[in-house]
Amino acid sequence: MVVLLVVVAAAAAAAVVVVVVVVVVVVVVVVVVVVVVVVVVVIVVVVVMVVVVVIMSIYTVPFPDAMKLAMQYSDRPVQARCLYLFADIHRKRNDSERASPRYESAYSIMSEIGDRVGQVQVLGGMAKTAALQRNYQKAKELNNKALDLSTKAGCKLGMLRCHARQKLLNEISPDDATSEGHENYVERLVEEMELFCGVCGDVIGQNPARLEPLSCGHFVHTRCAPHLARSTIGRAGRRRPCPACRSNSHRNPVLQLT
Ligand SMILES: [Zn+2]
Ligand SMILES: [Zn+2]
Repeated sequence: MVVLLVVVAAAAAAAVVVVVVVVVVVVVVVVVVVVVVVVVVVIVVVVVMVVVVVIMSIYTVPFPDAMKLAMQYSDRPVQARCLYLFADIHRKRNDSERASPRYESAYSIMSEIGDRVGQVQVLGGMAKTAALQRNYQKAKELNNKALDLSTKAGCKLGMLRCHARQKLLNEISPDDATSEGHENYVERLVEEMELFCGVCGDVIGQNPARLEPLSCGHFVHTRCAPHLARSTIGRAGRRRPCPACRSNSHRNPVLQLT
């Protein structure tokens, strides 16, 4: 009987020890897992913060610095340009509340200093902001004002942008005005400014594309430059002219290599 009791007591003690060991192991494993998770989270947060700070320092520091210097030296044209750029940045982030007052300030400085090309650009930004707010009537009025100003200033690029924008606004929000007239102006201005690639003939500026400048002032798409090189080198290895104006195109990097 006594022997039996001793055996039972020993078994119970062994069981208790096993349970304690298991509990300790589980606790240790849980603690290790928690510590690892916390360390990983902290590392991820720190890396993300560093990346954000680096990106912010790249994209935001130069502009306040430029503005600060412009204020320090009372450089009104640079102040106006900075405000215009700030406004554009806010507009592109769909923040029209911050964009609008900066456009207004840029416009008032540009009017004061007589920067008509700048005024056209700012009015274009204001028109885009109004369109963002779905106020298409205001967008058209602002764009018409920009068109009027660019016509008076003889700024063909400004006129082209305004006609293209007005065409788009008329398509989004149709009224009595037709887009046809604006489309004709766009085509005519593209022809006048020769805004097309001399190799493939596509209009330049409608879609983002890398360009190569030629010495005559014309541009071709970078992707078309190899074709230009092939088609403009004569049999004797002499340079042949730019397809748009027939001037020799020495500045083309592909041609320079040959
Ligand atoms: Zn091309
Ligand atoms: Zn040319």
